[in-house]
Amino acid sequence: MSYQSPEYNAANIFARILRGELPCYKVYEDAHTIAFMDIMPQADGHTLVVPKEGAPDILTLSPEAAAAAIHTTQRIARAVNKAFAPDGLLVTQFNGEAAGQTVAHIHFHVLPRYTDQSFRRHAREQQQAEVLKEHADRLIAALSELSD
Ligand code: 5GP
Repeated sequence: MSYQSPEYNAANIFARILRGELPCYKVYEDAHTIAFMDIMPQADGHTLVVPKEGAPDILTLSPEAAAAAIHTTQRIARAVNKAFAPDGLLVTQFNGEAAGQTVAHIHFHVLPRYTDQSFRRHAREQQQAEVLKEHADRLIAALSELSD
């Protein structure tokens, strides 16, 4: 049997962040999306783009919310490139536990990549608060310098 999207559960951690019940290091927000630092970054500058629409995955997200999410993901990728000067940029999005998804509210990862550095493990090691804050501040500054 193929992958089946789960029912959306509004108790998930990103829904709680969206409702303001949990804190995050926010770098960007508009009517349809929010972007904040991954608390267990696989690389410095690892940022998450989260649509505000309550959908667990890419299959259930509306086309309008998907378009907004990609627009914000592009904006964040430009800011990560400016702020962290990586050799490359990786954008990922997981659907279902078999694909590696651990939070069942759709999101896009934006990850800087360096030729001489491997990733830290996925969702394993929490970064120090002051480091996440400093990285968020760098991204906010880079975003303010983007033209679009
Ligand atoms: P997924 O595996 O679902 O694609 O990715 C979920 C991501 O969310 C992981 O990279 C993990 O480090 C991150 N994450 C998990 N819990 C929290 C949290 O409470 N706050 C933030 N900012 N990120 C989280």
